Amino acid sequence: MKIVIATNNKKKLAEIQAIMQDERIELISLDRFPGIKDIPETGSTFRENAVIKAKAVYTKTGFPAIADDSGIALDQLDGRPGVYSARYAGKDADDQKNNAKLQQELLAYPEPHTGRYICSAVFYDGKKLLAAEGKLEGKIITIPRGDNGFGYDPYFQPDGYTITTAEMDPAEKNRISHRYHAFQSLKEKIVHEVLTK
Ligand code: IMP
Repeated sequence: MKIVIATNNKKKLAEIQAIMQDERIELISLDRFPGIKDIPETGSTFRENAVIKAKAVYTKTGFPAIADDSGIALDQLDGRPGVYSARYAGKDADDQKNNAKLQQELLAYPEPHTGRYICSAVFYDGKKLLAAEGKLEGKIITIPRGDNGFGYDPYFQPDGYTITTAEMDPAEKNRISHRYHAFQSLKEKIVHEVLTK
């Protein structure tokens, strides 16, 4: 079965391809369908955004589609930045500005600043909608460490680790990440509910 992945991000594509490895599944990049513009993420949950993207890509390409949405949710901030993780510091947000804003907000609360990365992954083929979620629990620290990864990684220390996800070997992060758990579970659902029916 050919499935289009709703991302143009090469790193994400490679990561998802490695997780979804199965002889019955052929993942196709969205690059193969020029003209599909960025799909606005107008939902209020990770799952809503992933559903919006998977449905839009299915409608535009005619192929079964998978999409994901992810971010970080802090307990002391009632789940923020959540779906706004990529644009937390506003329209011109980048990783540095987002992290600065998060640190500023967390100053008002005592450590540890516990929270989690969350990823929602969705499959849609015009008939079946399958959804799965993955989490990585941890805390936001105040002094960044490490150069790997992206986003909030230099400040995010997973539970059970003394290093941040930016200090981790990328392959190791991929084995424990929220994306890994979400796509692994989505793959099982696709195998059981679509490929073996
Ligand atoms: P998206 O799912 O690609 O839209 O990512 C949303 C945002 O969440 C990213 O821009 C990052 O700010 C944050 N994020 C999601 N996953 C990770 C991760 O593995 N490490 C660091 N930041 C992440």
